[in-house]
Amino acid sequence: MTAIKSDKTLQRRAEAVIPGGMYGHQSARLMPEGYPQFFERAEGAHIWDADGRRYLDFMCGYGPNLFGYAHPGVDDAYIAQLRRGDTMTGPSGLMVDLAEDMTRMVSHADWAMFCKNGTDATTMAMMVARSHTRKAKIILAKGAYHGAAPWCTPVRRGTTQGDRADQLFCTYNDVESLDSAAREAGGELAAIFAAPFRHDTFVDQSEPDLAYAKRAREICDETGALLIVDDVRAGFRLARDCSWSRIGIEPDLSCWGKAIANGHPISALLGSDKARAAASAIYVTGSFWFSAAPMAAALATLKLILETDYLEHTQRLGAQLRTGLDAAAARHGFGLRQTGPVQMPLILFEDDPGLGKGYAWGAALAQRGVYVHPWHNMFLCAAMTEADIKFAVDAADAAFAEMRRNTDWPAPAALVAAGMVKAG
Ligand code: PMP
Repeated sequence: MTAIKSDKTLQRRAEAVIPGGMYGHQSARLMPEGYPQFFERAEGAHIWDADGRRYLDFMCGYGPNLFGYAHPGVDDAYIAQLRRGDTMTGPSGLMVDLAEDMTRMVSHADWAMFCKNGTDATTMAMMVARSHTRKAKIILAKGAYHGAAPWCTPVRRGTTQGDRADQLFCTYNDVESLDSAAREAGGELAAIFAAPFRHDTFVDQSEPDLAYAKRAREICDETGALLIVDDVRAGFRLARDCSWSRIGIEPDLSCWGKAIANGHPISALLGSDKARAAASAIYVTGSFWFSAAPMAAALATLKLILETDYLEHTQRLGAQLRTGLDAAAARHGFGLRQTGPVQMPLILFEDDPGLGKGYAWGAALAQRGVYVHPWHNMFLCAAMTEADIKFAVDAADAAFAEMRRNTDWPAPAALVAAGMVKAG
């Protein structure tokens, strides 16, 4: 052990100049023991923390890394455009190229608007729907994440009741609750938001039921409201089209971000002709929304999406991981709940309401150079190899063995203090 870890030093300095030492989902205080807060480098499927320790990264930046960090093809395009002109007084022509490529790939879409974060895209989707219908109410699924603006941030502190006005809630995949929310909207419905699959934190993931997706489409058609698929997290990880193309349901609007430029900052709202006039009537913009270099990176990323087998590759590796982990867990007497698409897995332990087992496992894996998340879905990237998955499964096996030295796994104090799980 070195005397002063630089991650620890940075954490101490951060306490003085960054509120709470860190905010939002980036706070390592909510993560298992020993997880680093700061990183210094990333390449391919790996990240290096501020102490130079390397991890096989199953978070992929919470989604943006699709083809591997520092992908040469994407980054060369980015750097070349950066040198030519990035944030200028107006957009470069790449914006039109990108809108053409995105609308060609995403079958429901006829137009595109670009922004920076997923929250920009979801907020803009809500505005377009209200502009289109001139109505206010939106239906959201309880527990679904759509960003961190005052209307949708999961923690209410700092927001007002008014920020949440006109919101109705249903349960994902529950048609009856969707119908009842639509009835409650009483002719004032502007939009139904839908996640491409249920990918809420802390609970098992599930595929969308066709009956639910169909009913959402029908309600929108009957009432004139717009159907919005929030593909910020899953976009291009499940399909080379909108994720709901897999079940044959077309939304009116879809929200994109994260992976569309393989880590460079850009997000998008795509829409159908029906919503074009409403989209051109709202006022939305941002200083960096028109920057050209991320658009160059997005164009290079879309080409890789079309021309490589990245999707099938991540599915193959995801299946290898799922089978390997189940077998390793069973060898040591643990049961796992691995849910969701194999390339976007959520891994929870059976009989672990306080997440103590998950945290102990995560801590043991981090020590072995594998970065996992104990309650958020993870991501595989195309830079991972079969050997990487074998490395992860071997590390998991050793982590399960280490856990067997204990008989009880208390809920992590930080999660209990934050009210995210109950003690015990
Ligand atoms: N929607 C979904 C489904 C997301 O997963 C996220 C981010 N995790 C967002 C919206 C918000 O995106 P951003 O953090 O880029 O604002």
